[in-house]
Amino acid sequence: MPSSRLDPAVRAAVDQGLLTADEPVVALLDTDGVRASAAALRAAFAAVAPDVRFLHAFAVKACPLVPVLRLLHDAGLGAEVASPGELALARAAGIPASRTVLDSPAKTAGELREALDLGIALNADNLQELTRLDALVTGVAPAPPIGLRVNPQLGAGSIGALSTAVPTSKFGVALRDPGAREEVVRAFLDRPWLTRLHVHSGSQGVPLGLMAEGVAELYVLAEEINAKAGRTQVDTLDIGGGLPVNFASDEDTPTHTEYARLLAERVPGLFGGRYALVTEYGRSLLARHGTVLTRVEYAKTSGGRPVAVTHAGVQLATRTVYAPETYPLRLAAYDAGGRPRTGPDVVQDVAGPACFAGDLLAAARPLPRLAQGDVVAVLDTGAYCFSSHYGYNSLPRPAVHGFTRTAEGIRFAPVRRAQTLAELVAESGGADPDALVR
Ligand SMILES: *Cc1c(COP(=O)(O)O)cnc(C)c1O
Repeated sequence: MPSSRLDPAVRAAVDQGLLTADEPVVALLDTDGVRASAAALRAAFAAVAPDVRFLHAFAVKACPLVPVLRLLHDAGLGAEVASPGELALARAAGIPASRTVLDSPAKTAGELREALDLGIALNADNLQELTRLDALVTGVAPAPPIGLRVNPQLGAGSIGALSTAVPTSKFGVALRDPGAREEVVRAFLDRPWLTRLHVHSGSQGVPLGLMAEGVAELYVLAEEINAKAGRTQVDTLDIGGGLPVNFASDEDTPTHTEYARLLAERVPGLFGGRYALVTEYGRSLLARHGTVLTRVEYAKTSGGRPVAVTHAGVQLATRTVYAPETYPLRLAAYDAGGRPRTGPDVVQDVAGPACFAGDLLAAARPLPRLAQGDVVAVLDTGAYCFSSHYGYNSLPRPAVHGFTRTAEGIRFAPVRRAQTLAELVAESGGADPDALVR
């Protein structure tokens, strides 16, 4: 979200008492922004592929919050889930089985059975999983669509941990390994119920060209299988997610439109109408629309450098804190009343509350000099940040509020209330303190 567009929401959050001395960190989600991104995704693909049936399945891991999933469902999206927990959230949000896709490299037999019973499409990760499915699909009629994930082994993007198409990736069937392609084709010919192919070449840091190449490989494989089967056995291609987000500025680049056009150019047959398509975007739909607000509890100087100590750190921006070069986040400074802080930039550290020295949202960041009681906004945190809480130091999950802009001003709606200390104790074995001393 452009930071200046954020200003009224920060001001309103302070004025309406969402951010207090007792609740010094909250998260905001721009509801209209999420809707706009969902609409832009749908329009981007509809523009290049008017005759294709799409399921745009939101990657739940990017923002596993039930009201957010419901909002996206309302905006015409489905859900991509990768664990029993994510599936439970999607179901709680009312997302129908027919709009849900299950991926995961480690599905148990029980999870597979549940997906089949519920009628949820799934992508098997490997050939062992297909063998497991052989025994299960016979008992289910009709079985929901089942696909196989392949790894085109095209190489990595700039972030190794998010690059899933490297030669030794843990995901999918490694297509270029000796004999693997033949085995995959054989697996399809032996299983008439296997009707989809899936690829997801990675997330943040993977160039669009590489992702498109992965989709091209998928398309060629589908054509090969269908030619050998003598019929359209593979009728749906799941082309994954992974559109990167620009965390460096307000400029939205790349866009879904750019990527859809690139695909149309590189894989012309893809949008011809012979295949239905599934997409699985996460961060590109949500990251921009989330903001963490935190009070500056103390503003001190250490070794000559100003340090603002806040309540937002590793528990909310885990990747940023552990790998700051790879996952930098922009910060914006506001005064205690929620008005933008002006004044010359001063190089300072903005620290989180956790008890280790590396718990910094930003090191040596030029910002207007922060003072005690000020508000810091951590931008672009709508995906994989406050919704993916990390329980270090038993720091509780903060409240999340959605907001919309109305004629009367900013209106907030609670998405998730803050975790209470009682809940935290209960989740930490608090029900039976004597468990180890009896
Ligand atoms: C994580 C993931 C996605 C979503 O990735 P984003 O970068 O958030 O778009 C999609 N598909 C699969 C299989 C994933 O693991």
